[in-house]
Amino acid sequence: MGDRVTLMVTGAAGFIGSNFVHYMLKKHPGIDILVYDKLTYAGNLDNLKDVRDKIKFIRGDICDARAVGETIRQFGVDEIINFAAETHVDRSISSAADFLESNIRGVYTLLEATRQYDIRKFLQISTDEVYGSIQNGSFYETSNVNPSNPYSAAKAAGDLLAKSYHNTYGVPVLITRSSNNFGPYQYPEKLIPLMIIKALNSEPLPVYGTGMNVRDWLYVEDNCAGIDTVFRKGRLGEVYNIGGGNEKANLEVVKLILRQLGKPESLITFVKDRPGHDLRYSLNSDKTRALGWKPAHAFEDAMRKTIEWYVKNEWWWRPLLSRN
Ligand code: NAD
Repeated sequence: MGDRVTLMVTGAAGFIGSNFVHYMLKKHPGIDILVYDKLTYAGNLDNLKDVRDKIKFIRGDICDARAVGETIRQFGVDEIINFAAETHVDRSISSAADFLESNIRGVYTLLEATRQYDIRKFLQISTDEVYGSIQNGSFYETSNVNPSNPYSAAKAAGDLLAKSYHNTYGVPVLITRSSNNFGPYQYPEKLIPLMIIKALNSEPLPVYGTGMNVRDWLYVEDNCAGIDTVFRKGRLGEVYNIGGGNEKANLEVVKLILRQLGKPESLITFVKDRPGHDLRYSLNSDKTRALGWKPAHAFEDAMRKTIEWYVKNEWWWRPLLSRN
């Protein structure tokens, strides 16, 4: 980046956002980063512990228009990337209200602020889950959205709102839709960290249904590089898919974790499937690749790095096991 900019990264006390902050500080040392996060159960300042003196942090809700506006004015924010969201599908099935608030109203509030304060660029972080399940082939950015659960429906609504602000008011919006991420600092309710921790403790590993649901896994650092690429080079008003190109059945992923940790497959226990559980996600990322991005990590190596991180950082995940 050329001249010094202040980038507001919302939701960056969570998994991908905190990895993104680490990535950006390394890649663009001249950047000023302001993290704005409500610190829900999924937000954790420990995720930013080693860069705390290099960033500014404000605790706030993206649904709070006044707080968002004050923060933008006070810090002279130039650009916004929005990671803030409720993200756990199972929680959205038990209770959707917070998902509608943060994933829809929150996006609306940020779009209004982008408009009002002439923010130069607004990137909405979204998910391949908005496309729903696909049997054969892959989803393109032009594919219809067809979400299957309250989480993905709320994310789809946020995306559509963002697009509409570009079309209606010319707000400088970009959207990335990535596949399933894994890596350091992922809250242990999600598949990969959950399974690593259960395996480390030699506890049963609960796998939904028959374990045949396929996800396209993306190492979080590769997503961060993709987001940075789209943010710098993407065309305003456009959606960009970011997929890892690693389609694996959940059972295969769980078996790999057990193998890499030297634990027996007998720890696997099959549990009642999640309602509305999408069978397969698959993304075509040619449009993002055309901007010069591609994933740099092979799946098994990235899994080894991830496992090593959880083995070395029990101080980070142990206290989270008793949160809800
Ligand atoms: P996460 O649950 O780990 O973190 C979410 C963060 O947002 C937390 O720090 C939380 O405190 C904050 N937050 C929630 N509601 C807020 C609000 N109203 N105001 C301010 N902050 C709030 O999530 P994640 O896995 O890092 O996902 C980040 C983004 O990436 C989300 O938008 C998600 O939809 C998207 N995404 C995630 C994945 C994945 O595999 N994890 C894949 C594709 C897309």
